[in-house]
Amino acid sequence: MYTARSYGPGRFRSSPQRSSSFGRPVTRGRFSAPRRGAASKLQGLDVNIFIKQARETILAPQNVIKHTFNDFALADFIKQNVARKGYKIPSPIQDQAIEPILAGRDLIGVANTGTGKTAAFLLPIIHKISIDPTKRALIVAPTRELAFQIREELRSFTYGTRVNSALIIGGASMYRQIDELRRNPQVVIGTPGRLKDLIQRKQLNLANYSTFVLDEVDLMVDIGFIADIKYFVALLPAVRQSLFFSATFSPHVNEILRSFVNNPVTVSVKQGETLGNIEQNIIRAAGTQKVEKLHELLCTTDVSKVLIF
Ligand code: AMP
Repeated sequence: MYTARSYGPGRFRSSPQRSSSFGRPVTRGRFSAPRRGAASKLQGLDVNIFIKQARETILAPQNVIKHTFNDFALADFIKQNVARKGYKIPSPIQDQAIEPILAGRDLIGVANTGTGKTAAFLLPIIHKISIDPTKRALIVAPTRELAFQIREELRSFTYGTRVNSALIIGGASMYRQIDELRRNPQVVIGTPGRLKDLIQRKQLNLANYSTFVLDEVDLMVDIGFIADIKYFVALLPAVRQSLFFSATFSPHVNEILRSFVNNPVTVSVKQGETLGNIEQNIIRAAGTQKVEKLHELLCTTDVSKVLIF
């Protein structure tokens, strides 16, 4: 089976059209400009081969954006860096999560990649560090790529400031990472294996990390990182702020997380939020059929990009 994704006209990532669509009140279709029907992008392709086909998403009323970035009690340099990145209005998860995080609440965010969840937790964290540079935050992600992306976002939001970070991931020089840790960064972003390694080598002490972010928790649990998460939690201060993000919350994930949080706010951005920007069509294909189906897809004029899992 493979998934074909064709990106809509107002797609979220790096689309110049996106900014303009952010400037108006968002009541439907989340970040993107209203899309043409998914079927129109697939002319010439037999849609019966899809076992799941993208449908236009209408935002639930609770996802109507209520704030502008100026409404949030964020430091001016953060607002300037947000504007420099071309963000005009907050995404639904940012709209709903930034205030409770600024207020110090624990938060469970039901949101997948593409919803703007990274900025939802980074902006308040950066703000708090700008007020109290002794504050420390630990952000744990299941994959190196995700950790890297979070670091890049952090850098863009802290542009022109002294907020310092370390990226602690496998497959990269441990000595360089030790060097970064010795500079006493306010934010440490990493994957579980290397973080644990450096903690055991006494290069990282979690006792001062009063903000703890777990990103893509469901994937973390699937990969089998749950013992590592428990290990980190045991080393973190008892009084801390915990922010957990996951695309799905199975009863198992939920049960584990609930034991780590204190009276959390739950912010849920509907799954369709991501699909509003990214058309996702799933096709069932067995064995050699896969190549034929892929060929068929690539031959359709409207499908410019195909992602294969
Ligand atoms: P994320 O879900 O955090 O991986 O974000 C997905 C993409 O959306 C990233 O490229 C972000 O830079 C971008 N993004 C996040 N928030 C906004 C916003 N409010 N306006 C425009 N783009 C955004």
